[in-house]
Formats: sequence, structure tokens, C-alpha cells
Amino acid sequence: MKPTITIIGAGISGLTAAVYLYQKGYNVQILEASERAGGRIKTDIIDGFQLDRGFQVLLTEYPETKALLDYKKLNLKRFLPGATVLYDKGQFEIADPFRRPTATFATLFAPVGSLKDKINTFFLKNKLVKIAVSDVFKQLEVDTISQLKKYGFSQKMIDRFYKPFFSGIFLENDLKTSSNMFDFVMKMFSEGDAAIPELGMEEIPKQLVAMLPANSIQYNVKVNAIEKNKIICEDGTILEADKIVIATEAIGLAGNYISKTKQNFHQVTNVYFEAKIAPTKKAVVVLNASTDKKWVNNLTVMSNISNKYAPIGKVLISISYNGIPAIDDTTLAENMKTELKKWYGNQVQDWKMLKTYRINYALPNQENVSNEVPNSQIKINDNLFICGDHLLNGSINAAMKSGRIVAELIDEI
Ligand SMILES: Cc1cc2nc3c(=O)[nH]c(=O)nc-3n(C[C@H](O)[C@H](O)[C@H](O)COP(=O)(O)OP(=O)(O)OC[C@H]3O[C@@H](n4cnc5c(N)ncnc54)[C@H](O)[C@@H]3O)c2cc1C
Repeated sequence: MKPTITIIGAGISGLTAAVYLYQKGYNVQILEASERAGGRIKTDIIDGFQLDRGFQVLLTEYPETKALLDYKKLNLKRFLPGATVLYDKGQFEIADPFRRPTATFATLFAPVGSLKDKINTFFLKNKLVKIAVSDVFKQLEVDTISQLKKYGFSQKMIDRFYKPFFSGIFLENDLKTSSNMFDFVMKMFSEGDAAIPELGMEEIPKQLVAMLPANSIQYNVKVNAIEKNKIICEDGTILEADKIVIATEAIGLAGNYISKTKQNFHQVTNVYFEAKIAPTKKAVVVLNASTDKKWVNNLTVMSNISNKYAPIGKVLISISYNGIPAIDDTTLAENMKTELKKWYGNQVQDWKMLKTYRINYALPNQENVSNEVPNSQIKINDNLFICGDHLLNGSINAAMKSGRIVAELIDEI
């Protein structure tokens, strides 16, 4: 009989490991510290609004999600490629002319860069379409900001598009994140869409849970330590397992087994507002590229992407700030509204703050990223294994890949 595998953590990586192990015939048990599965991907329902815990999207071309998830059942709602950019003199639309031919005119005349920038974008896309994902991560790594300069983009193009766009993805303002992560994300955006499940991001972990037998997960069980094949829980319970997989964040239990540099992390604060009138009707992300930007990095009218995110007759606005500010929620919400008044006028007064999420641990540090991980980093000993996005890079794709790799490794032994 195949051994029983106990997985600690029901985030995307732990769930993915569980699904692949179960498909290979293993008996799988998951211990989860919180009250439900999903880890960093959760959606709260408040007053009929769907609030993802932090603005996040699924990139439909992620190889791992394509392989395991049923996109049809998720009923994915897609963003339009491109963005609206707020800048000192107003706002403009930037669209990808290769993916949205009808928007070519707007893009060509957008005040966002020279003809050279547009040609450079074309060459970059051409390079990324031809290169395999595995080769993207084999390139020499520098920080993203240096790479953008190396690609020849003007300062204007960097300030008005790349910086606000990618700081919203990397959750850091200086674009110190690895150039390979930039190339990977650009490749994903060039080849597919950014999307959210109609009923919220938590539909992704819910779909994985549904692939497992009922009662595979024990909730509200926090593991404090592991000693050989004994699992010591916070409440004093000791459980025994044939093999154990740690699938927790880099600063939790996993932190005892991974390199210290992998434990630096990025924080984000996400404020949700309800409104009667949407500040934009477009299904795009709105970037703040103004020179006096302080409280708003990006804004999305979530109910423009999926109308299920807000009750009928209402709209849901999500605003992100990188980091955790040392001011209270009400002041932060008012500061965001004041900053946006310049573009949206007095309608901001009608926005009512619904909820603020201060996410202490959002993404692992991404100055060095990878797409492969040596067995020595996954296998601590014959009985103890580890997975999680921190092993590769901060993305749903990486979390799932680490889960799949750990399942394959256990099965090979
Ligand atoms: C705000 C935000 C925006 C993001 N944006 C994107 C995006 O747009 N696209 C993208 O691809 N990715 C994005 N990500 C990253 C993505 O969500 C993560 O990479 C992924 O969810 C990580 O999954 P994981 O399983 O590795 O870790 P986690 O989701 O952190 O799972 C760890 C689990 O372990 C549990 N746990 C921890 N300690 C214990 C313990 N001692 N005992 C028992 N259980 C324990 C936790 O409760 C949790 O459920 C974003 C993340 C955040 C927070």
C-alpha cells in the first residue's frame, strides 16, 4: 500500500501537491491553520460584494494552471489587454495593438512614449513569443528597472507605463524584482489574458479542494513543529505521518527549512470602496503615473470585470497601495479619494469604504527567481518535503508547479 502523506498548509501549493498525489493513488491528509483553504487566495463576501484579499489575477497562459484547472468551470472574466493611465495632464488609454487592433489608434497617439518605444515593445514581444518559459528563467538576471533601460525604453515610457504597471504586479515600487520575472510576466500577458473567476479568486482553491475526497482537510490545526515523523500541533496534539510536506509561507514553518534570503517579502494594502457610479466603464486596470502619486498605485472597478463582484446597482472599486502605511483605515481611504479627485472630481465623495486589507506577507522577495528547483531544496530528508511559491517565484503558477514537483518526487522514491 502507498504511504499516507500529510501536507501542512492548504494554500495553492499544498492543494496542488495533494491533488497530484491523490491522482497517483496516495492517501492524502492536509492540516490547515486557518478556517478554510486557499492560503493567500481568498474571497470574502461582505454586504453582497466579493472582496478578494488583495487585488490579484490569474494569467490564463500560466502553464501549470492550464494543466490542472478547468477554466470553463471557473467562468473566467477577462480584463481588456492594456490599461488606463492617470498622469499629471489627465488620463489616456494604452492598449496592446497586437491583441486589440481596434484600439490601435488610441495607443498610437497615447502620450506614453516615442515611436522608438513602440518599436522596442514590438521587438520585446517578438523575443518573448519565441522563447520557451524554461529559457526565460535561464537568462542572466538583473533588476527589472535596469533591464527596461537595457531594452531601450525611454524614461517617459518607464514612468508612465512600466513602473506603475509592474509595481502593481511585483508589489514593490523600485522594480528591483528580477528581469526574468518581468520577461515571464510580459510573456504571459502577450500570449494570454489577465482574468478573475466570475465568483472571485477563491474559486481557484475551491476547485482544487473539489478534486480531493471529502474530509481530506482538517481546518484550524496549526502545526508548531515536526520531529522525525511526528507532527506537533499548537493544541498539543501529536500526529504521526509516513511522509510530511510543508506547504506554508516562507516566514512560517517553512522558514526553518529554507534560505534566509527567501524570507524577505513584499507587503500590500488593498482598500475596497462601494459606489453607485463607476469612475470608468472599462474592464481595465487604471494606473497612477502622476508625479505626486502617494496613496494610489492602481485602481480597478472589479464589477466591470465580473458583475458578480457587486450587488445589482452598485459598483466595487479596488485600490492598491504598496506597503503598509502607518495611518488608520479611514485616513488612508480619505487620502486615496483626495488623490483621485483630480481625475474623477466630486464623485469620489460618494465612495464608501467597505474594507481594508493590510497584507503583511503578500509575495516572497523576487530579486532572484527560478522556474526549476533542485531536489535537495524540496527533499529535506526521506520523510520530509517542502513546497510553496517561495521556492520558485511569487505566482500562482509557481505555487502550483512546486506542488506538482513535490508530488512527482515523492512518487519517484
Ligand atoms: C495581494 C496579493 C496579490 C497577488 N497577486 C498575484 C497575481 O496577480 N498573480 C499571481 O499569479 N499570483 C499573485 N499572488 C501570489 C499568489 O497568491 C501566491 O503565490 C500563492 O497563493 C502562494 O501559495 P502557497 O501555497 O505557496 O502559499 P500560501 O497561499 O501562503 O499557503 C500557505 C498555507 O499554509 C497555512 N499555514 C501556514 N502555517 C501553518 C502552520 N504552521 N500549520 C498549518 N497551516 C499553516 C496557511 O494558513 C496557508 O493556508 C498574489 C498574492 C497576494 C497576497
